[in-house]
Amino acid sequence: MNEGGESKEMLNNERCWEAVVNKDKGQDGQFVFGVITTGVYCRPSCPSRRPLRKNVRFYKIPAEAERAGLRPCRRCRPLADVGVDSVTARIRGLCNYIRGNSDSGDRLNLDELSRHAGLSPFHLQRSFKAIVGVTPRQYLEACRLKALKGKLRSRISVTEAIYEAGFSSSSRVYERVDTRLGMTPTEYRARGKGLSISYVSVESPVGLMMVGATNRGLCFVQFGESHHELLEMLRKEYPAASLQPMKQPYSQQFGLWMEALCGHLRGDQPHLDLPIDVRATAFQFKVWKYLQSIPYGEVRSYTEVASGIGRRAATRAIARACASNRVAIVIPCHRVIRCNGELGGYRWGLERKRVLIDRERAARAGTLRFP
Ligand SMILES: [Zn+2]
Repeated sequence: MNEGGESKEMLNNERCWEAVVNKDKGQDGQFVFGVITTGVYCRPSCPSRRPLRKNVRFYKIPAEAERAGLRPCRRCRPLADVGVDSVTARIRGLCNYIRGNSDSGDRLNLDELSRHAGLSPFHLQRSFKAIVGVTPRQYLEACRLKALKGKLRSRISVTEAIYEAGFSSSSRVYERVDTRLGMTPTEYRARGKGLSISYVSVESPVGLMMVGATNRGLCFVQFGESHHELLEMLRKEYPAASLQPMKQPYSQQFGLWMEALCGHLRGDQPHLDLPIDVRATAFQFKVWKYLQSIPYGEVRSYTEVASGIGRRAATRAIARACASNRVAIVIPCHRVIRCNGELGGYRWGLERKRVLIDRERAARAGTLRFP
């Protein structure tokens, strides 16, 4: 996932596939495609045997394919023509250097970095972006954010523990929870034990998406690079549940849920009201319900959410509640940003958050262009 927070057009999968089928040299450099079964990524014109469509994923730049755990093809050498083969190692070294020194204030400016890498500032900017996918500054900011989160985590859990102490031990709270919204306390403790979850992954306008559901509602809507990765994420969330692939054709109920979700992501259906079935604390529910009240195409700051639910001091706990969301989009945690206008965090990558916000705004303004 891209922590760079950069806005980028999503690829048109159909057009990309057409280019791969035609081994279209004209598309080289526009994107690369990965084959999840072989773990290799290629340029569109790669002379190797054409893979099966279902095993192919598209990436705007080599860096995204690398992040998805793929390695460059030895035949078509997707990195060669960008001239990055020779500097890749230097940029990788620079990434390590930035990670290790992200707390050293403003010393890590572009001059310092270009000295360290032995590249001109211009060459560094360009190569860094081509290889890593974000600018050195964005990378540095992502490192700082990550370090900060790590430091906060221990304190946050204490705060959360205080907020939630009175809740988890009291069945009262759970009785008050809307039955459409949430597992019973017993199920919550058992990490999904006794639950039967069906899942399917589908391509969405913002990437591969897995949807998991019980017969009561959606319990998992998440984005990932591969079906395998998503299934692992589902298993981690519900280790004790019984998981099975969604039967095709979908049941009428699930079909309607999927239609609503996909229509919403396409921008056709601004208002989304789907039943969800997730384990959560009362505090999390409160936050999530508030998020669902934020109008399509709008955003709120963490501070606004905090005062909205009458917990002015709980900004961090709110950020945590957003981060622990398991049903993306249905609970629109992407609509919460920092009060200074920065994106804040997003469990499924800042780039995706940016795109979701932009698409919603565009759809509302009637200027959304497909894909
Ligand atoms: Zn290749």
